[in-house]
Amino acid sequence: MFADLHLHTCYSDGTYTPQELAGHAKGHGLAAIALTDHDTVEGCGPMALACLQEGVEFIPGSELTAEINGHELHLIGYLLDIHHPRLLLETGRFQVVRQDRIREMVGRLNRLGLSLDADAVLARANCRAPGRPHVARALVEAGVCASPDEAFERFLKKHRPGWVPKFKISTQNAIELIHEAGGLAVMAHPGLNRHDELIAELAAQGLDGIECYHSAHSPSTSAHYLEIAHEHGLLVTGGSDCHGLNKGKPLIGSVQLPYIYVQQLKDRALQSLPHPVS
Ligand code: AMP
Ligand code: ZN
Ligand code: FE
Ligand code: FE
Repeated sequence: MFADLHLHTCYSDGTYTPQELAGHAKGHGLAAIALTDHDTVEGCGPMALACLQEGVEFIPGSELTAEINGHELHLIGYLLDIHHPRLLLETGRFQVVRQDRIREMVGRLNRLGLSLDADAVLARANCRAPGRPHVARALVEAGVCASPDEAFERFLKKHRPGWVPKFKISTQNAIELIHEAGGLAVMAHPGLNRHDELIAELAAQGLDGIECYHSAHSPSTSAHYLEIAHEHGLLVTGGSDCHGLNKGKPLIGSVQLPYIYVQQLKDRALQSLPHPVS
């Protein structure tokens, strides 16, 4: 039995609907999947229903944009209470800033002479947590770039002319928020960040796990983070980070996390729940 615990839908910058994603999960024979859209839990309700219909176990989640010592990190909250008031308040704040950021990015591109329309980009994105991939797709549709990769390379990567810095919360606040909402905090794709020196500090802040398996991790990178997770007594997770089609093929199914890690995640979440006052 295998799982994929890192997936995006059209509720952030993925292209699949929850139904399409659940269909792919079933097609790949996955026993469980988690939804980890950026800075939102809005897709979790529809995703839970879609998974129920396909007979796939569902783990609600969200990938929060955080920072520590000036470095951007993504912290995934798993098994969150998706109706938790403060979680909804904080993710709502992220979403307002994300929408404003799209306008700012389009404004920069306009000043370069490109005729994109921010309202049209936002309408096409049709979600509360839009991101750079939506601008990249608009640049492709406008015929400015041949592919989203080219759009990132020319305009949207850090310090390129269309780039606008992103709103982040401190890792300490993100971990506290995830815990307050009943979830577990996991450092996403550490192999992309390569800031291993921060892991001890994150563990001291209450980090619960590390995403050792990821579609961008080589086998040796995964082995490296398995060792670090073991050293710090952290949970192990993994997922593909599928956003839809990637070079003609979806990434879902490219990472097969043994189900034992899902069990350990659930066991830990249950242990962490507050006890009723006796
Ligand atoms: P944002 O959250 O708006 O900063 O956008 C980040 C998202 O853009 C990531 O989650 C990826 O889905 C995507 N992304 C980042 N870098 C690239 C790249 N070089 N090429 C294609 N997509 C990218
Ligand atoms: Zn993304
Ligand atoms: Fe990420
Ligand atoms: Fe992601």
